[in-house]
Amino acid sequence: MTSLAPLALLIAFAVAITTTTGLLTLRRRRATPAALPLTAALFSVSVWGLAVVLLNAGVPRPWLDRLVVPQFLGVGATVLSLRLFVDAVGGRTFRWRRALAFAVEPVLLLVAVLLDPRLHWFHTTVAYVGDPVRRSVTAGPLFWVHTAYSYMVIATAAFSIWQLRRNTTGLLRRQATTMLVAIAVPFGVNLAVVFLGDVVDVDVTPLAFTVTGVLFAYAVLQQDLLRLVPVARSLVVETVADAVFVLDARERLVDVNPAGYALLRSAGHPGGEGGEVVGRPAAGTLDPALVRAVGAGEGAAVVRLGSGRDVDVRTRWLRDDRGRPIGRVAVVRDVTEQLRAGRALEEANERLRAQVATIEGLRAELAEEAARDPLTGLRNRRRFVEDLANRLTASGASGQPLSLVLLDVDHFKAINDAHGHAVGDDVLVEVAHALRAHARPEDVVRYGGEEFVVLLPHLGAAAARVRAEELRAACARVRVEVEALRITISAGVATAPDHGTTPDELLLAADRALYEAKGGGRDQVALAD
Ligand code: GH3
Ligand code: MG
Ligand code: MG
Repeated sequence: MTSLAPLALLIAFAVAITTTTGLLTLRRRRATPAALPLTAALFSVSVWGLAVVLLNAGVPRPWLDRLVVPQFLGVGATVLSLRLFVDAVGGRTFRWRRALAFAVEPVLLLVAVLLDPRLHWFHTTVAYVGDPVRRSVTAGPLFWVHTAYSYMVIATAAFSIWQLRRNTTGLLRRQATTMLVAIAVPFGVNLAVVFLGDVVDVDVTPLAFTVTGVLFAYAVLQQDLLRLVPVARSLVVETVADAVFVLDARERLVDVNPAGYALLRSAGHPGGEGGEVVGRPAAGTLDPALVRAVGAGEGAAVVRLGSGRDVDVRTRWLRDDRGRPIGRVAVVRDVTEQLRAGRALEEANERLRAQVATIEGLRAELAEEAARDPLTGLRNRRRFVEDLANRLTASGASGQPLSLVLLDVDHFKAINDAHGHAVGDDVLVEVAHALRAHARPEDVVRYGGEEFVVLLPHLGAAAARVRAEELRAACARVRVEVEALRITISAGVATAPDHGTTPDELLLAADRALYEAKGGGRDQVALAD
């Protein structure tokens, strides 16, 4: 045995790589369906490569002839398993019939190689040359048939990857590109080996396939996403609650997801998932409102279907490589409940706003009532004292006087006692009426019981006294239904700032004056001192 040619050494190294990689991909066979055919391809390349190494290792002639069998067994198996690998990557499920169909040629190849020493159809001549001794062959018709077939299989596999690449985006697209490069390498190398056989007299194709296999293995080992992404995408379409309809350029339905079938059924369409819908024109199959919305081109719209359901329709063009529209996809979402909930919420809001307004009105009314005496309609004492403080401050600031008259009905208890409480009330109402006729309404206050206060802004003590006399006279004219009843009132007058500058001071001064008027015989006005 003599030394191996350097190229054969390189192939031996490649065989070690493909075998190791094959062992690694084999372990991933449960994780991804592409792993098993890839493992088969890597081992096939190993067998092929090993045969090539031995063919160049100077083994005895009878062994050289026998090595042709594993060499072409490896070649056939490589082509077969690469085709099955590309199938798996493209998402095609494994079918024995397909695998066996692709296995026919490798079997015939094997038969041809086995019968070749007698028939010479594969290699027409075989010479044993060199030292160490090698086979030098002339390609026969069956060799060319086999080569053409293998190229065709690899080319269609490459075309499958190219199509896969066209229909994908992102990572998957980049990986498809890598795979195209990976498949182009052995193609080129093998072309060189077959047609430039005189220059490169060692079959180095296994070397190229090593590159292919390792790149593919990288995809399978590192990036299981390869198959995952399209599977995930189609799974999403299958499981989303939105109905998805795909229309071709002639407005026929070419795909409908389960939610789409459910929508059709809810509209009374008998369409099951058995394909009675697919292939039909959209008009006549889908709801007319839906057809109109989809026909309007790209965009979104909310339409009411014949079933009374409201749906949100989003339409997008599907375009080919050159951007020409080839169909449409419509995503339809039932928004009936959403719209109903929105409307209910709006109505509830409207009711709430009305209620708040009512409550606000009632609250204001209540506040107003609380500040008013129900019997006479006059302001009551509550707000008055507070209001008086403000007006005293204002008058103090402006230097204007402010007078106040405190009035009390004389012997009112006796009126109640003699004529009853109702008549007493009538008297109070009439007194209030008389007072209001002589002063601004907001300046007249029912101070409590049968006592009233009349504010006299801008009036000094003397003028206030005159006004108090007028008020007393007005009250004396009050008549109620008890004809004989005559009333009198007593009044005390106090003026700010002379008799005080706070409500308490002023009211106390007025009260003292009133007390004096009572003491002086009632039915009179007294001025504070
Ligand atoms: P004087 O001349 O000293 O003021 O004697 P008077 O009887 O008027 O005074 P007094 O304070 O003793 O009596 C006030 C009465 O007013 C007692 C109470 O029953 C009556 N009174 C208070 N509020 C009302 C009311 O709203 N309606 C009626 N009918 N009577 C009331
Ligand atoms: Mg009194
Ligand atoms: Mg009284």
